[in-house]
This record gives sequence, C-alpha cells and structure tokens, in this order.
Amino acid sequence: MASLFQKKDHLLFSYTKVKRYSSKLFEDANRRYIVSIRNHVELMEGLKAFCDYIGIKCGQVSGIGAVCEATFRMYDPATKQYVDKTFSEQMEITNITGNISEKDKEAYLHVHATCSRADYSCIGGHLLSARINGACELLVDSFGDTVAGRRPDDETGLNLYEL
Ligand code: FE
Repeated sequence: MASLFQKKDHLLFSYTKVKRYSSKLFEDANRRYIVSIRNHVELMEGLKAFCDYIGIKCGQVSGIGAVCEATFRMYDPATKQYVDKTFSEQMEITNITGNISEKDKEAYLHVHATCSRADYSCIGGHLLSARINGACELLVDSFGDTVAGRRPDDETGLNLYEL
C-alpha cells in the first residue's frame, strides 16, 4: 500500500512498504542474486539486461568492480540541463549503489557510483555508463511484486518515484 507523509501543507516523502517474508508469494518472488557482469561489457547495459531477464522491477543493487571508462551525469535543477563527463582511465569502482524500479514495463535503473583513480583520489556521481575492465561484482535484491513506478516530474525535470 503506497502512502504519503504530509506535514502541515507540504508532503515530506512518499513510500511503499516492501512485502514481508511471511508472504508465500513474496518468498517465491523475492530473491537476492550475486551477479557478475562480464568483462568488457557496459555495466548499465549488463545490469539492465539481468533485471529484464529475471523480471526484476523493484529492488536494489550494490557492488564493486573495475572499469576503464565511466561517464557520470550531473543534473542542474536550475537550468534542467544534464552535463555528462567521461573519464577514460582505469579505475576501481569502490561502490555502486542503486535502485531498480519500473518505467514503460521495463526495469528502470538509478545508479550512483564512486570510482578511485590511479592516484587513489575518487570521483563519482550519477552513473550513466561504465566499461568493465577487470570485474563487476554485484548484489541484486528483488523485492518481488512490490510496485515502484516512475513518472516524469515537471517541477524537477526528473523521472521521480511514483509510489
Ligand atoms: Fe542520480
């Protein structure tokens, strides 16, 4: 059951409850997967293909790995413009954190990553794409038939959760 939390006259957040393990349906549908995206594959393409293959439309992802190229996207709310920047160098993915929802009946990924460079400094942000060069080891949780959709939001210009 989706819910909205309102304080005085503005909404603070919306949420939907992840179904509990006590449900047999949830037990069947809910799974945790250890996923290895193969070397040289584009990470977001590989992850989306996995989610679509399994049928995950609500979940979360975390992981580590190594890449030789990563493109991050910065969104400026004032101009509603995206600025993309590609870093073409060998980097460790020190962390990937993201969520999986549903848009247009397909898995919709929202992933952020932090990558460490050869000098051990880090860059990071909203991950648009990354070319795996070494390994990509992910943990993907499916929340079964919990529904988390996306809708375009006029105010922010983003595809926000529809809960
Ligand atoms: Fe983001």
